[in-house]
Amino acid sequence: MLFRQRSLETPHGTLQTPVLFPVSNIGTRSSDNTPEYTESIPDLSTAMVNGRAIRRRDPQWQRLLEGASLREEMDVSPETIIFADSGGFGFQQNTVDTTPEETLETQRQIDADIFGTVDIPLSRDNRQAENQRRIGKSIEYALEASDRHDGDEALIASVHGYDPETVRNTIRHLERKGDFDGYAVGSLVPIRTAYEKVTKIILAARRATDKHLHVYGLGGLNYQPLLLYLGVDSFDSSSFIKSAGKRNYLIPGFGGEPLKNIDELSHLPCACPVCSRRSFEAIRNDRDLLTRHNMWALALELRRFRYMAAADVELEAYLDLRFQANRETKRAYRLAKQQVRRLA
Ligand SMILES: [Zn+2]
Repeated sequence: MLFRQRSLETPHGTLQTPVLFPVSNIGTRSSDNTPEYTESIPDLSTAMVNGRAIRRRDPQWQRLLEGASLREEMDVSPETIIFADSGGFGFQQNTVDTTPEETLETQRQIDADIFGTVDIPLSRDNRQAENQRRIGKSIEYALEASDRHDGDEALIASVHGYDPETVRNTIRHLERKGDFDGYAVGSLVPIRTAYEKVTKIILAARRATDKHLHVYGLGGLNYQPLLLYLGVDSFDSSSFIKSAGKRNYLIPGFGGEPLKNIDELSHLPCACPVCSRRSFEAIRNDRDLLTRHNMWALALELRRFRYMAAADVELEAYLDLRFQANRETKRAYRLAKQQVRRLA
């Protein structure tokens, strides 16, 4: 069994893992912003922010330099554990416009607890040589961050590769040459439907290190249980916002359903504080309510998995049921199960 429960010490407290980091958007377009949630969902006292975007956003960055607290700006509790990534996915079309030094400075300024190293994500459309160059660059950036970092914050090296060997060798190399509290696998979002490939890459990472393992971007409803099964310690997701934008309603244990397919219904099938008393109509017509519910759905999916583990339910039996509903994810789970068993 690869599923594991650990803890990670951070300046804002002990992080119990496995855990989800909801992606926090704090831009100017308020409809895309992440609603307050740390008060209402007590076991979701975490947030993932994009350090680069925050630094490039005046006047907010000016306010932070003058002593404002990012947690206050985000309207989350002061104890919230913040994971600041480098925002590397923004480099896809451009050249890298930051350095490990500047990124660390930004991460310290926003008082983050977990620092992701600067990276240049891969693209499935790139030539192999170009992806290889990016992998090398990301390794260089991670090692430079390791040299420069000496605080209590957890330093997590970003790791990329489209085959298990590359990911395994990268982690082993970083482990020998640097000093990291864990690793984060990136570049998987563009290949997320290639379940077998993604599963093999994550398993290679899990086997290469016993330290904290994060997977960037795949913390949505259907990937979440798979990642837990593969022994991943944390993941992030913005699917609660994106789904709400498309009027998709996330149902824990099932998936995302477009509300436009429903003509008439009195109430939605959820007992979260958003849905329990409001009518279907009221929620369908309010994107903010949908976002809040979708966030609950992600939290409930994780709670359910934790419950099964605590109650000593055989996790494979639970997942057999969990993935019944969707042909694609059922196949993905079957592949993951075969690979996990091969390891046993
Ligand atoms: Zn709900």
